[in-house]
Amino acid sequence: MNFFTDNEDLQHHFKHAIAWESFVPLWEDGFANPDGPKDVAEARELYEASLGALGEFAAKEIAGRALLIDEQGVAFRDGQVVHPEALLQNIEGLRRLGAMALCVPREHGGYNFPMTVGAAATELIARACNNTMLLHAFHQGPALMVMRFGTPEQIARWVRPLAEGRISGAVAMTEPDAGSDVGNLRTTAVSEDGRWRINGRKQFITNGCGDMCVVLARTEQGASGLDGLSLLIAPRLENGRENYKVAKPEKKFTIRGSATCELAFDDSRAELLGPRGAGFAEILTFMNESRVAVAVQGLGLSQAAFHAAREYAERRVQMGRPIARHELVADILLDMEAELQAMRALVLRCAQLHDRIIGLTRRRSAGEARELEPLKRALRDRTPLVKWFGAERTLWITRAAVQVHGGYGVVQEYQVERHYRDALILPIYEGTSQMQALMSLKDQVKWAFARPWRLFTGPARVEATQDTLGDALREMAAEYNRALRSVIVESVGLSGVLAALVGKAEADRERLAYALLSAERLCAMLAYTRAAEALLGSVAGSSQRRRLAERFIHRSLPLVRMHGEIVRSGDLDTLEGLRP
Ligand SMILES: Cc1cc2nc3c(=O)[nH]c(=O)nc-3n(C[C@H](O)[C@H](O)[C@H](O)COP(=O)(O)OP(=O)(O)OC[C@H]3O[C@@H](n4cnc5c(N)ncnc54)[C@H](O)[C@@H]3O)c2cc1C
Repeated sequence: MNFFTDNEDLQHHFKHAIAWESFVPLWEDGFANPDGPKDVAEARELYEASLGALGEFAAKEIAGRALLIDEQGVAFRDGQVVHPEALLQNIEGLRRLGAMALCVPREHGGYNFPMTVGAAATELIARACNNTMLLHAFHQGPALMVMRFGTPEQIARWVRPLAEGRISGAVAMTEPDAGSDVGNLRTTAVSEDGRWRINGRKQFITNGCGDMCVVLARTEQGASGLDGLSLLIAPRLENGRENYKVAKPEKKFTIRGSATCELAFDDSRAELLGPRGAGFAEILTFMNESRVAVAVQGLGLSQAAFHAAREYAERRVQMGRPIARHELVADILLDMEAELQAMRALVLRCAQLHDRIIGLTRRRSAGEARELEPLKRALRDRTPLVKWFGAERTLWITRAAVQVHGGYGVVQEYQVERHYRDALILPIYEGTSQMQALMSLKDQVKWAFARPWRLFTGPARVEATQDTLGDALREMAAEYNRALRSVIVESVGLSGVLAALVGKAEADRERLAYALLSAERLCAMLAYTRAAEALLGSVAGSSQRRRLAERFIHRSLPLVRMHGEIVRSGDLDTLEGLRP
């Protein structure tokens, strides 16, 4: 049992589709480090060996404890959050394996693995147990934030303990009245003699009971919205005493083994992380990586659910044959597989873009800086889409797995009901699906307006082969472009959308309404298009994969057309209901 070696699609990517040469030499600084690999081939061997060991541990140990972790859930005893014992065993096992923070640089306790490898590692853990994946993530996540913005002293104090799994952390942005509306946050931090004190409340903080917390707070008096925010590091204990209060963890039906905490800061001590007032830009770096990570979480869940459904369908006999041989079930299983492969292709496309961007940024030569902008744009375009697609399609895949199991699907020991319950968090945290849709729309409109003729040539372009499948993919992009143009030009008007989407949203709220109403349909259209593009770009050398890509594209195109037709219909029914 090994979740890395048994996954043919992941193996195909690692062996044939990932463009290792485009980022590994950059990450390894031309292979100059005597502690690192000496060339791309050796780096790949190292990645595969590490993932092989992790895949075995995930399959043999972590997966076996997932049901128990879900059953036990998080407890609250004597004023302390208590994680399920089995979850802590999993984390201890990962720690002993040395797999806590694979992407942190070697000199700070990690392995300097690119995100492409980190994403595969996270998928293996998420497939075994989502709760374990989450606690695992809150070691590397805060470590990378401190690495990126911290002083040498902060890095020395926090990064290695997090990377080695000796402590864990949290990242606190959400408040009772500031969820999607981050600009409404009320928590403040003031400086006294170079030390900072935080006051306010944070809500729904994953692993808020960890040893430290990166907090987003308002530090500039009189500032509002997304201005005047800064990041701070608050240690959980200060001189052995509680520095902030961790209230009772939420009782949830999803990711039940993950501690979701309310935090109360009352003159709590903290240190500034990064420059004053740059907090929102800084936390965006974490959120953008986390959005891809949520899609990876979905990938792990989808893989687990698909695997369970396929095995069950081969075993379960009804009307004289395994249900996998009944047309409708066979069709569901193939759709699940095609969607899963499309999701993985899109995730790995984003991870590779990220890795080349980070690699080039480390080199910082003028020629490379020119290459950075289009890469950053490509990643920005795909980040809300991969989050949306990963979340929404995992919900469909995990629900389909329950359906394939019939009555047994709702029975706990078959595990697929847990996959479905756990999937329900994905469209909510790290920005809801609706917020991803709005971000994608804003980004596409800004891109189009930067060179207004793009509205007519088509803002979204795809890389596609010159064949019928490539034609279908180009048609998906064209359909998106038509719908976007219609929203902008025909329904809303050029000047109004421009003004509103680049900052004067309230003034033009009325005119913007149809664009906002269409945002999630547009997001779905572009997400399917980008997923299809990534899938088609990764099929090389495998006829079986090409068949699945054909299926995915031929079934996505009508869906994209349907959304396009609805968007272009100009149906104002919902908006009429909103008029005062
Ligand atoms: C289990 C769990 C773990 C979490 N972990 C963390 C964490 O570690 N750190 C952290 O900071 N936060 C965390 N969160 C918070 C999470 O990111 C927020 O719950 C999420 O951003 C949504 O905010 P909200 O719950 O206030 O919902 P709201 O913002 O009130 O949204 C409610 C609904 O309205 C929709 N909506 C809101 N505004 C708009 C709009 N302008 N247009 C269209 N639709 C809109 C939303 O899409 C949603 O459907 C976690 C939440 C949960 C449940």
